[in-house]
Amino acid sequence: MTSTSVQPMSASGPDPTPFHTVDPYTGRSIAEYPYLVGEQIDAIVERADAAFEQWREEPVERRARILARTAEIIRERKDDLAALVTREMGKLIGESRAEVDLAADIFDYYAEQGPGFLGPRRIEVEKGSAELITEPLGVLLGIEPWNFPLYQVARFAAPNLLVGNTILLKHASSCAQTALELEKIVTEAGAPVGVYNNVFLQISDVERVVANPAIQGASLTGSERAGASLAEIAGRHLKKCVLELGGSDPFVVLDADDPDATLSAAAAGRLGNTGQSCVASKRFIVPEAIYDDFVDGLSRRFADLVVGDPSDPQTTLGPLSSEQAAQTLLDQIDDALDKGATVAVGGARPLDRGPDGNGAFIEATVLTDVTPDMEAFAEELFGPVAVVYRVGDEDEAIRLANSTRFGLGGTVFGSDPDRARSVADRIRSGMVWINHPTSTEPELPFGGVKSSGFGRELSDLGLFEFANRKLIRAFPAGSGTENAATG
Ligand code: NAP
Repeated sequence: MTSTSVQPMSASGPDPTPFHTVDPYTGRSIAEYPYLVGEQIDAIVERADAAFEQWREEPVERRARILARTAEIIRERKDDLAALVTREMGKLIGESRAEVDLAADIFDYYAEQGPGFLGPRRIEVEKGSAELITEPLGVLLGIEPWNFPLYQVARFAAPNLLVGNTILLKHASSCAQTALELEKIVTEAGAPVGVYNNVFLQISDVERVVANPAIQGASLTGSERAGASLAEIAGRHLKKCVLELGGSDPFVVLDADDPDATLSAAAAGRLGNTGQSCVASKRFIVPEAIYDDFVDGLSRRFADLVVGDPSDPQTTLGPLSSEQAAQTLLDQIDDALDKGATVAVGGARPLDRGPDGNGAFIEATVLTDVTPDMEAFAEELFGPVAVVYRVGDEDEAIRLANSTRFGLGGTVFGSDPDRARSVADRIRSGMVWINHPTSTEPELPFGGVKSSGFGRELSDLGLFEFANRKLIRAFPAGSGTENAATG
């Protein structure tokens, strides 16, 4: 709580057990942090609310400059930030470095493009004028996950700070140090005290924050369980929420024209971030004629991975984010095997599991013969486990692609652009990528449908989720009141 003047423990509240962060490669504890309690939480909301009154009045160009400076500092600290992310959640160091760049790009995008999106929009009317202007809402709570500890925060913080909202950021407990660094960076970039507030909040205190009259909205990226809980609380207190939840993205292969490119994309789509991405390709749907070659090719790529220390650039398969995550995934694999699935490669824990044998590793795994009674069919597999299905025709492929409660992303691979496009149109999800695994760019909207959540982040859409699109309708004086009080 670097910029917090509130002391770590309150005399008035019970002292909750501090939480600690763990390096998933070694299983060793990194550091311990206290949760905020009772009145400390209220004090931070009050501080953010006071800051909002000033922040909203700043010219948008000043807010944009602070975002641009944030991007610069993130890039200046690339080595340290990447090492921290790798240590706290086990991401391969090359991927951590790429994430640093992406987070900086998001701050830059809103610094450069954001002000242009915020200008008034004129609506043609018969008499007088109508304008839609954009105003901030107030203090927001953002709850973010560990899997992309920098990118997820940038996605929420950058557009909202640009619009003029102030934020409380509750990061995943497992990446507390990254959370503190981000608060420090935004503050160093020039954000006044109270504009960006890291909060080490217990889940049981989320309602205390959301219920506070100063809070105008909440955004959560994470599991369905957490999303449903926040939505319930937000509903009870009539606060808007945006939810970015899980996914079980299909990867639909249409033909065998370029098997190497297809397999490389399939492996990359499944294994990026050690498979812990909401938009990872998770279900591979392959025509009968090329199914065997696809399973063999994917299995070979998975078997060739170099398991080891995520901070070593030679490593290509690191640990999962925690031992608990590894156990959950292993249970899902075991459930599938018990019910008759087949393992083409992997399926267990590797023999070498780091310096103390406690690393949260799982072998990269290809499962086949998965049926609807198995968890692997319906649940999100959050790690390096691919499920491959064989289908007879395009309609069956689309039926299978849509036979999930999730609707986040999806991929269609095929040589005929019209056919690929028509299949993309029939996939029920928030995003579909053609001839590329689902990915993200600052200027592209990101979000899902069905149990994957609601609302959008990034692009211009991300700017308006927590903004008041306010109508100003003006009539020349003396125009009369013929349409008064309808609606
Ligand atoms: P998680 O347990 O839901 O944690 C995510 C965040 O929510 C953390 O800050 C966590 O705090 C907090 N949280 C947990 N339970 C909560 C509750 N009942 N109320 C309010 N906040 C709560 O998620 P995870 O399983 O670690 O993360 C992976 C999930 O996130 C996957 O399902 C993945 O697909 C999804 N995800 C979605 C997107 C997207 O954009 N759609 C992006 C990335 C990840 P603590 O850490 O303190 O528990």
